[in-house]
Amino acid sequence: MTSSWIRRAERLSSLPPYVFARLDELKAKAREQGIDLIDLGMGNPDGMAPPPVIQAAIEALSVPHYHGYPPFEGTSDFRQAISQWYQRRYQVHLNPDTEVLPLLGSKEGLSHLALAYVNPGDTVIVPSPAYPVHYRGPAIAGAHIYPLKLTPANDWLIDVSQIPEAVARRAKILYFNYPNNPTTATAPPEMFAEIVSWAKHYQVMLVHDLAYAEIAFDGYQPTSLLQIPGAKDIGVEFHTLSKTYNMAGWRVGFVVGNSDIIQGLRTLKTNLDYGLFSVIQAAAQTALQLPDSYILETRQKYKERGEFLIQGLKKLGWNLQPPRATMYLWLPVPRNTNSTDFALQVLQKTGVVVTPGNAFGEGGEGYVRLSLIADCPRLAEVLQRWENAGIRY
Ligand SMILES: *Cc1c(COP(=O)(O)O)cnc(C)c1O
Repeated sequence: MTSSWIRRAERLSSLPPYVFARLDELKAKAREQGIDLIDLGMGNPDGMAPPPVIQAAIEALSVPHYHGYPPFEGTSDFRQAISQWYQRRYQVHLNPDTEVLPLLGSKEGLSHLALAYVNPGDTVIVPSPAYPVHYRGPAIAGAHIYPLKLTPANDWLIDVSQIPEAVARRAKILYFNYPNNPTTATAPPEMFAEIVSWAKHYQVMLVHDLAYAEIAFDGYQPTSLLQIPGAKDIGVEFHTLSKTYNMAGWRVGFVVGNSDIIQGLRTLKTNLDYGLFSVIQAAAQTALQLPDSYILETRQKYKERGEFLIQGLKKLGWNLQPPRATMYLWLPVPRNTNSTDFALQVLQKTGVVVTPGNAFGEGGEGYVRLSLIADCPRLAEVLQRWENAGIRY
């Protein structure tokens, strides 16, 4: 029994309700009933880190000083590897000492950045739908979230001219993410340029999440915010090794860009954590230096799964364009239902877990997200079960 005087801080109770909770209950119940669940709910890659990364970690384990506290700001080797990777990948120069900061996964940095910059009542603009951390992090910091509604009519892109003048004037930060989770949308460099010039005019900090930097198909290369002239004056960009290198459990990411913005986050973090285990930094450095063949394999895997599922879904009435990037499909739900009901119905009737679109904000209502984290035979099983249960668009 919890004593009634044990009350959570308002910053926790002010969080929007977590749509995943009900889904989790039903998942547990289905498991108890012995149902063979196929979980396409989370964006959790199903593979292992590349063998050279594992080898580097094993070797790093025998370096005695790696067993002590790591440097707060990350090892110099890892920061230099990040800076070299940026130069190679985007032709963007970064000072490894001031413009690069390793993180305990990008989720940690994305949410702590808000704690470093947001005062209670400050306005933070976050697209809807969005990766939940982009609005939950600022909400914990006491932000007033302005949801910027994205629509299929606008290809799920941001149109800064839709932001009311009064909101733009008081906004402190704009979070955004392309290639986008959950919509799979990709954005042209022109959209980034418009956002940068808008942000400079209104003096809004830009936080771009480039989690799917490398999960793109057919030669498409996602844009880095920092490739836009002047972006480094006002913005930072977050990266993760979780998706590119199947390293979600290792907890490693980094933020790059404006040195003042990064310094604030670093100052906050020196009060909260000691940075990443040096062994993980050594492994992550190896990952960034791998030949492209490893990434090509990962891209091929998600491309094949996506195309396979799209083909099968066509027979069930869905007409989807193959995404140019990410590891998801974004499906409209049938007209007579909504995101939550459809996801629950699919789980109860077929044992397949999908994420209701409204888990990403109200702008995701009417859609569900499928993660491509099962192999094609397993995805064939999904299609068979949906067909048998009459799940169609
Ligand atoms: C998966 C994901 C992350 C999480 O990254 P971690 O480094 O594992 O914390 C961040 N942003 C987006 C958009 C993601 O999809």
